[in-house]
Amino acid sequence: MKLAIMGAMPQEIAPILDEIGTYTTTKYAKNSYYEATYHGIDLVIAYSKIGKVFSALTAATMIEHFKADKLLFSGVAGAINQDLKIGDLIVATKLNQHDLDITAFGHPYGYVPEGSVYIKTDKKLIELSKKVAKEMNLNLKEGIIATGDQFIADEARKHWIKDTFNADALEMEGCSVGVVCEALDVDFFILRAISDAADMDANFNFDKFLESSADISAKFIMKMVDKLGN
Ligand code: SAH
Repeated sequence: MKLAIMGAMPQEIAPILDEIGTYTTTKYAKNSYYEATYHGIDLVIAYSKIGKVFSALTAATMIEHFKADKLLFSGVAGAINQDLKIGDLIVATKLNQHDLDITAFGHPYGYVPEGSVYIKTDKKLIELSKKVAKEMNLNLKEGIIATGDQFIADEARKHWIKDTFNADALEMEGCSVGVVCEALDVDFFILRAISDAADMDANFNFDKFLESSADISAKFIMKMVDKLGN
């Protein structure tokens, strides 16, 4: 097995690289990919840069070029569900693109012909994450994550995303990674720790909590890696 671990920003993979300690770096397609063997598992690790296009490119590269056959995403997100507080973890059961809109032709939001509104994540990886949460005595919420090429710092847009997709959290990469993994038949898992509430304080909170929330998510992902190695 070769496991891909990805984030969108340097801060999201830094704690993972720190924990692994020794790795090789390969430059490919204008990005850096870090490879290591950790607890008997071959890993490829990268941050993609922000947004759907860069994250799709990185996910596809990890699978097609670096031959990953499972992918775990670690990062931060804005909360929609009021039960989610800063630092809380959410794992995606399914994801959608909230900014995909050809409704002018009578299609639902988030849908293109031959695609689907929601992309489902792998059930076995979710089961594994529940075990890890139990062992760590952590509250892990499962829910719908909405992805789009926008930083949301606006109550009205946040509520529209909630009403339209029933989403619990939002971010900018999960669904595009999911589309790639589903198409290439690679099991994937999207974990996010909350950095803000996608409201008018979002950019302030994001800057304040990016590192601590990214760290919470990364630590959890490393526990999953340990389990995948056993
Ligand atoms: N401050 C950064 C930009 C961050 S964009 C800079 O200047 O470079 C927000 C990143 O965190 C994205 O990768 C996204 O996936 C996630 N995220 C966290 N809160 C978000 C929110 N409220 N809206 C959209 N994405 C959010």
